[in-house]
Amino acid sequence: MDDYGLVLNAGSSSLKFCVYRRPLAGWWRLEGRGQIEGIGTAPHLTAKDAAGVKLADQKLDSAISDGRKAINALAEWLRSHYGGARVLAVGHRVVHGGPCFANPVVITPEVLAELRRLIPLAPLHQPYNLAAIEAASERLPGVPQVACFDTSFHRGQPEVAEVVALPRDICKDGVQRYGFHGLSYEYIASVLPEVAPEIAKGRVIIAHLGSGASLCAVKAGKSVDSTLGFTALDGLCMGTRPGAIDPGVILYLFQNLGLSAKEVETILYKKSGLLGISGISNDMRDLLKSSEPAARLAVDYFVYQAAKQIGALAAVLGGIDGLVFTAGIGENSAEIRERICRSSAWLGIELNDAANARRDPRISLPSSKISIWVIPTNEELMIAQHTGRLLGISNPH
Ligand code: ADP
Repeated sequence: MDDYGLVLNAGSSSLKFCVYRRPLAGWWRLEGRGQIEGIGTAPHLTAKDAAGVKLADQKLDSAISDGRKAINALAEWLRSHYGGARVLAVGHRVVHGGPCFANPVVITPEVLAELRRLIPLAPLHQPYNLAAIEAASERLPGVPQVACFDTSFHRGQPEVAEVVALPRDICKDGVQRYGFHGLSYEYIASVLPEVAPEIAKGRVIIAHLGSGASLCAVKAGKSVDSTLGFTALDGLCMGTRPGAIDPGVILYLFQNLGLSAKEVETILYKKSGLLGISGISNDMRDLLKSSEPAARLAVDYFVYQAAKQIGALAAVLGGIDGLVFTAGIGENSAEIRERICRSSAWLGIELNDAANARRDPRISLPSSKISIWVIPTNEELMIAQHTGRLLGISNPH
């Protein structure tokens, strides 16, 4: 019987999944991937096989109102599609590993308890990641589950990049800068030697621009700084999160507007960023199509912050050799890439407009001092590889 491995990336309203298969005495390979979107509103399952051929595109029962029910629906679909499969392991994306977890870990009740303590540091993600772990453990008792963290890749940064300049007794219990999107950055760093060998050992800024957005300064494949910090709120402007903001504004919300902590949390995680500025949408596609001044300002601010913080990380690295764009906006929007590159031209960036429009892997001119790349990310592959390695079931190398 073939063996299967499952990768789950559970968000507040979506559950992304990948299925890996290993034939008897064969190698693991991707079998299919998909997602349940619209959990709690209009749940919809889509899935494709490894070649991109559609396997499912179906509305689900609207009673699928939370992550647990979504896992049950996914389990049913998986059973109907891969009937009788033996699942060897489940790998999960977990956003926050806190101070305790610098590496992926096999989940035990003790690990789960520690990860629950981090929910206030990632309220938009962590509860959903953990709910998926609990639901998968119930459906697949005895099958090992592995947590892979978005913070791990950043551990080992210089102390000066991690410190938060508050009193020591406040910081001693884990108040520090962690950084996120680490699975994405780790994947990009892992493929640079093959895709962009001339910068793989150099100084690179990776721009992960999706509904969450951040930059990572990478030196010889290792993270030395990033724009996200203690939580996933800092740095760049995001779909619904503000990015860097004067902490005095938060005091103002409490002291002058009399808002509760929950209300401030909702504003910071769900109502700010592109959505807050535009008042129209958190989706970059909608804003690029719109001629409303507020939509234009939101896009201008997104680009402005990206260029400003590319400058800051270039200073951290003492100059850069390469810039890589990835994630939803970074991979798909030639216009945003072009605008960020134009604003960063002072660094010696010369964009190749035709290559950018075609989305070639390399989008800079040969004369450009800094090479520019578009590399699709693959967080799920990193999770699958970590899970396989940790459990001793990876491909033979
Ligand atoms: P996440 O995994 O955090 O949900 P993604 O990396 O999938 O985010 O990015 C999602 C975002 O990418 C969408 O909100 C949308 O704004 C943006 N996006 C996707 N395609 C395009 C495009 N063609 N042009 C501009 N933005 C795009």
